[in-house]
Amino acid sequence: MIDADVHNEVPNAQALFPYLAEYWIEHITNTLFKGPTEPYYPPDSPVAARPGSRPADKIPPGSSLALIQEQVLDPADVQYAVLNCLYAIDSLHNPDAAVALASAVNDWQIAEWLDKEPRLRGSIVVPSQLPSAAAREIDRVGGHPGFVQVLLPARAQHPYGNRLFHPLWEAITRNDLVAGIHFGGAPGNPPTPSGWPSFFFEEYVGMAQVFASQLTSMVSEGVFDQFPSLRVALLEAGFTWLPAHMWRFDKEWRNLRRLVPWVKRPPSEYIREHVRVTVQPLDAPRDAQSLLQVIDQLGSEDMLLYASDYPHQHAAEPESALLRHLPAPLAQKIRGDNARAWYRL
Ligand code: ZN
Repeated sequence: MIDADVHNEVPNAQALFPYLAEYWIEHITNTLFKGPTEPYYPPDSPVAARPGSRPADKIPPGSSLALIQEQVLDPADVQYAVLNCLYAIDSLHNPDAAVALASAVNDWQIAEWLDKEPRLRGSIVVPSQLPSAAAREIDRVGGHPGFVQVLLPARAQHPYGNRLFHPLWEAITRNDLVAGIHFGGAPGNPPTPSGWPSFFFEEYVGMAQVFASQLTSMVSEGVFDQFPSLRVALLEAGFTWLPAHMWRFDKEWRNLRRLVPWVKRPPSEYIREHVRVTVQPLDAPRDAQSLLQVIDQLGSEDMLLYASDYPHQHAAEPESALLRHLPAPLAQKIRGDNARAWYRL
């Protein structure tokens, strides 16, 4: 079993003090800075914290290694879990603070998580709004054997195919890491193309469109032609929207491909080759037949990665239970083999 999406949380800004320069400690102390932004999820809802995941000492869910060992690693006999620390560096407007805090979070992850628990793998937190600075941070810590991924928020100031991001893709491929694009982001622009929604519910449902727009941008701007070894994981994206998006993408490519002559193959081929998707939240009907139908429509048994999304909860029944209803070889791919290959574990 490999769990491709587990969230470790920075308990508070003070936890980063051992990894920050004196200037930033003084700055945080004087300004009462509590952290980059509010969490992406309503704090008291199951989608933010499943029952029982809140540590006793008032620190946020996901911030206790002991609890992650007890609730994620031990019960499901997880061989590896990939941590995604959602510290919203992308929301910081002070570029020097963004760089300093991202570095501190990564050094904190190495000392407090990766070096303490061999079953954990980590995602490098970067100032994604500053691609060159992000690339420097990836080169700084990318050699640590615990890091397998660079974490990027689904919402961004520009679509990820934009050439602004080339230094980022260069650094990710240079360090042989996966680009993990995760639900959320706080770039300041609305999470829908038609403006601000009124409710978190709308934002959560609509995030599939943000993921779709990022994929459209990356394929259309030729990111996968320019960086042929780039591996992407879509995290907490759902995946039942993907077959329909690929059908439309391929159909319009046949029409309009002369506008993007560097896109040499149908977009769905790039996606099947370069993209993997975690199964949580499972946005399919909850019977094996429907699930098998969607996997058939994806056109690949290699794309889905098991994830608990701990401490977030999306359904009463854990996704691991659903895997029992799938044919054994397919279940084994989703449970661990696909992630083992993608993250080179
Ligand atoms: Zn997640």
